[in-house]
Amino acid sequence: MIDPFAIEDGTEVPPPSGPAPEDLLAGLNPEQTEAVRTTEGAVLVLSGAGTGKTRVLTTRLAYLLAGGFVQPWQCLAVTFTNRAAREMRERVTEIVGADAASVALGTFHSLGARMLRRDGERIGLPRDFTILDADDQLRLIKQVAVGMGLDPKRWPPQALSSVIQRWKDRGVGPDQVGADPGAEYAGGRAVAVYRAYQDELARLSACDFGDLLLKCLELFRAAPDVLARYQRRFRYILVDEYQDTNVAQGLWLKALSMGHRNLCCVGDDDQSIYSWRGAEVGNILRFTHDFPGARVIRLETNYRSTGHILAAASALIAHNADRMGKTLRPASGDWGEKVKVRGVWTGEDEARVVVEEAEALQRRGTPLSEIAVLVRAGYQTRAFEERLMSQGVPYRVVGGPRFYERQEIRDAVAYLRLIRQPADDLAFERIVNLPRRGIGDATVEQVRERARATGTPMTRAAEEMIARNDLSARARGALSRFLADVGDWRAFAATADARGLLSEVLEGSGYLDMWRQDKSPDAPGRVENLKELLAALDEFADLGEFLEYVSLVMENQGGDETDRLSVMTLHAAKGLEFDRVFLPGWEDGIFPNQRALDETGAKGLEEERRLAHVGLTRARKGVTVTFAAARRIYGQWQNNMPSRFIDDLPEDHIERISESGMGGSLPLARSAAPAFAAAPPSVGAAGKEGAYARGQRVFHDKFGYGEVRAVDGNKLEIAFDKAGLKKVMAGFVAPA
Ligand code: ATP
Ligand code: MG
Repeated sequence: MIDPFAIEDGTEVPPPSGPAPEDLLAGLNPEQTEAVRTTEGAVLVLSGAGTGKTRVLTTRLAYLLAGGFVQPWQCLAVTFTNRAAREMRERVTEIVGADAASVALGTFHSLGARMLRRDGERIGLPRDFTILDADDQLRLIKQVAVGMGLDPKRWPPQALSSVIQRWKDRGVGPDQVGADPGAEYAGGRAVAVYRAYQDELARLSACDFGDLLLKCLELFRAAPDVLARYQRRFRYILVDEYQDTNVAQGLWLKALSMGHRNLCCVGDDDQSIYSWRGAEVGNILRFTHDFPGARVIRLETNYRSTGHILAAASALIAHNADRMGKTLRPASGDWGEKVKVRGVWTGEDEARVVVEEAEALQRRGTPLSEIAVLVRAGYQTRAFEERLMSQGVPYRVVGGPRFYERQEIRDAVAYLRLIRQPADDLAFERIVNLPRRGIGDATVEQVRERARATGTPMTRAAEEMIARNDLSARARGALSRFLADVGDWRAFAATADARGLLSEVLEGSGYLDMWRQDKSPDAPGRVENLKELLAALDEFADLGEFLEYVSLVMENQGGDETDRLSVMTLHAAKGLEFDRVFLPGWEDGIFPNQRALDETGAKGLEEERRLAHVGLTRARKGVTVTFAAARRIYGQWQNNMPSRFIDDLPEDHIERISESGMGGSLPLARSAAPAFAAAPPSVGAAGKEGAYARGQRVFHDKFGYGEVRAVDGNKLEIAFDKAGLKKVMAGFVAPA
């Protein structure tokens, strides 16, 4: 294998003796063939889902190599994920053989990193620079900002970080920010923080993710000879999912392609779903402007989905005003099955019917690997994971960890473990300074040493060190406050139910607030996951049972079945395809999500609709959309309206299915929903917090009826008729 970044100019090897390039075109339609064969000049393939864009790109790469038009290291191919890169490399290897290994193929980040390792020294970046993850990045920004006298409470480092990240996405260094509104942040000192942060990164020989592109742009400016070398090197550049590139990536591509000007980008404006991460659909819209004379090729035949699915997806996206518009027709005359739209009572019902249907499909011969559940938000995977586990259906979560493996869930569980078991040192270490409470690594190290020396758990060692005055005043104060909190929670645990306890812990510890204040794009998802964990706790009688369950879940994740059902977010499903796709949670507020609905203007809603379009177009043969009439959120039932996107689906192409029983049938459309506004039978309406007085009769979902004995803020002590005396949060009971 030859490293495309390191090879010297003029190195030539004989062209491969692979298949004849023209043979690779068999099976492609005329437009696809044109897109493969138009090897010279700028080409934009702009076309809808499933029209073979990725296939064209892969074939084009193989075609170039097979024809000996080019040496493999003279090709640069960019994909959206590492997985897509791997698949493309495998596919091209199948066609042309081992030469494919020398193609510069990867994500923007990985390619940028390779370039910087090779040539970053020219801008003072050593070859062995480190790449900071999001955590390190945040810590560093905070240090820098605090060092400049900015109060982290007033100007949260998270917010600074996202302002800086946006600049990096736009290819803007500290000296180029200009009159950007972000510069107003932190009392007008955001740019100064940015500059100081970049200096600090340089001192540490480190890059964050945004730098992997930004520094390349800097390198190109500072070392024109390096840029010229790459411009000579990369004779052919290929880019998938072009609609989701950001400005910095666009500039990077433009710079590199200026040598040979053979740039082929493929994309679909209707699948632009990453604007929240700085993607600019403008890149695709401006392509012909940026590359005058570019050839634009439109593919209109969809080879993926059967007729009804395609018709439903096309009708849905036609509701967006801001789009280029395009034709999509099915390759086969097979209408296939209609899109199923299924209403259920509750979130649990939804997980049950989806998993039942998946199992039925499997029995009828569909491999699990051809079935996917695509959710709007990460927290939604929990209900499905739990159901799949309990039914013993192997599954994988694509694009992220399983629910109980997620960082915030592990943190929350660590709190509970420490409360239940003071000797749980792993839990202690995980959360003792999380959120930050001034207990530094050195203090933790001292505690660890003492624990080891005396053979006691760390909690005990810490108590002893406080008593013996072994610590600095600051550390002692912080540590004893923490231990006192844990002690309080432990006492509370004796009477509260598991959810009440965790709710108290997450609020009281400041852990939930830490994520609420976090401005990074994944923080809202973490808050949602924590709320979902609270909801999950309802299903357990007590804390012990829950912790037992979690440890079993964590253990049970092995198994080497290769046939697994996929669970993932719609964002992670981009570019993928499955025979059967489930799209749960089609309810206003969930999908489209509340943030999009709260926004003024149609922008957010249109991006949500594109996401719905991406979901529908992942399926080859079957789609089932589901919505629940009510979901339990924070222990309270919330009634949801079916998603407005369901109204966008034409009746001719959908089949409505409703659950009967439970005292009535479900609404089949939004118009019917108000008639159905009541929560499912047997569920008590939740009362307002703080509205309780001693002696009042109340109802609790699990403990039944009882009488309020004491009120302490939002904590109630209740004598339940059957369950006895318990402490619960006011939000979890309703007036009887
Ligand atoms: P997306 O926009 O979702 O990324 P895409 O445009 O990249 O979709 P592909 O994934 O390349 O589409 O192709 C969709 C499916 O159609 C794949 O299974 C692919 O193998 C198949 N396909 C593409 N072109 C043809 C063709 N000419 N004949 C038969 N099948 C084809
Ligand atoms: Mg594709």
